Amino acid sequence: MHKTDVLVIGGGIAGASAGYFLAAHKRVLLIERENGYGYHSTGRSAAEWTAAHFHGLMRSLVVFGRPFLDAPPSGFASVPLLRRRGNVMFAREGGEQAAEEFLRNAKPLNPELEEISADRALQIVPFLRREILARTFYDPENCEIDVDALHQGFLRGLRAAGGETRSGVEFHGAEYRGGCWHARIGTETIEAGVIVNGAGAWADTVATRSGVRPLGLEPRRRTALTFNPGFDAARIPPVDDMSSGFYFKASGPVLMVSPGDQTPSEPCDAQPEELDVATAVDMFENVTTIEVRRLASRWAGLRTFARDEKPVAGFATDAMGFFWLVGQGGGGIMSSPGMGELAATLIRGQPLPERACELDLDAATLGPARLAGG
Ligand SMILES: Cc1cc2nc3c(=O)[nH]c(=O)nc-3n(C[C@H](O)[C@H](O)[C@H](O)COP(=O)(O)OP(=O)(O)OC[C@H]3O[C@@H](n4cnc5c(N)ncnc54)[C@H](O)[C@@H]3O)c2cc1C
Repeated sequence: MHKTDVLVIGGGIAGASAGYFLAAHKRVLLIERENGYGYHSTGRSAAEWTAAHFHGLMRSLVVFGRPFLDAPPSGFASVPLLRRRGNVMFAREGGEQAAEEFLRNAKPLNPELEEISADRALQIVPFLRREILARTFYDPENCEIDVDALHQGFLRGLRAAGGETRSGVEFHGAEYRGGCWHARIGTETIEAGVIVNGAGAWADTVATRSGVRPLGLEPRRRTALTFNPGFDAARIPPVDDMSSGFYFKASGPVLMVSPGDQTPSEPCDAQPEELDVATAVDMFENVTTIEVRRLASRWAGLRTFARDEKPVAGFATDAMGFFWLVGQGGGGIMSSPGMGELAATLIRGQPLPERACELDLDAATLGPARLAGG
């Protein structure tokens, strides 16, 4: 029977990052049900890095992982993982109060965040409609992440350290007996000391299949589309409507638009709904002077949240050796170096680094015990 120290379930960015940081210390086997590794949420993101949009635990994880993205280990990737883009945010009439509150909360932690004039916003994004801009803000720290380079870097590093990755292999279930997990994967049974549940929207299913109490995770569908605006849009930074969650940004030379929807969904291969696509187009045409003629692409993906909407990284309280790595919501890419490193540290039973403690990151804050039923 095949034996491993750690069985990682899920080959998205969560599983790949934890496997990467573990592989130098443990025998790691990562399995992914699909034939490729980024088919679900990881391959469907907007690729943004931002600290200004988060507070609390997610912000700490994002900030903790930033040095890795700025300077990954030599050979990790052949291209920079981050590219500075900046971020324009606007409030419409009636949203000024919320904008004021956002600035009051975010400014102390993001000193470069500033209020800008509508003229300045129009210099950056000339096709915004001036009349909708009640307040405008700019965060120069916002970056674009090369998601594929990051994801592949994690998987390549995992393998280079002696770990194994297998795609097209589903986790069917496991029992803990005799001091280890007996896990049924694909057509075989393997022994593993620890199971890492990085199954994204399916993480509660993986728990149930292991006899572990589910956390009550909620996958929520988010829609996106791209279209050619008739000019090279590569320089357009993310532009966010602060009241609705609607945003648009460059995606290569075309524009990507999302209505900011978050419709609860079963775990599934999420597909865009006509109504959400139409809403996105309508919102875009409402705030800009551009008419959307023909879409280049459209997609939807699941952002999965725990009950308190914070990420979870820690051992289950009702089972031995079952580690949750879930609930990354809309920040799973940007938080992955931080979350992966801290998950690996906790799994190895090592103390968290001092820099994590300075950011109020500790086992209790990260772990599932904070959630009723965790
Ligand atoms: C439209 C959209 C925009 C986003 N924008 C951003 C952004 O700008 N920045 C950011 O940081 N984040 C963003 N996110 C969030 C980010 O994409 C997710 O948080 C992240 O990808 C979650 O990664 P994951 O590995 O947990 O999940 P996934 O990528 O879904 O990976 C989980 C994997 O587990 C596998 N699996 C499930 N069950 C089993 C099983 N039984 N056996 C084997 N394998 C199994 C699945 O096949 C899947 O591949 C966005 C998400 C969406 C949808």
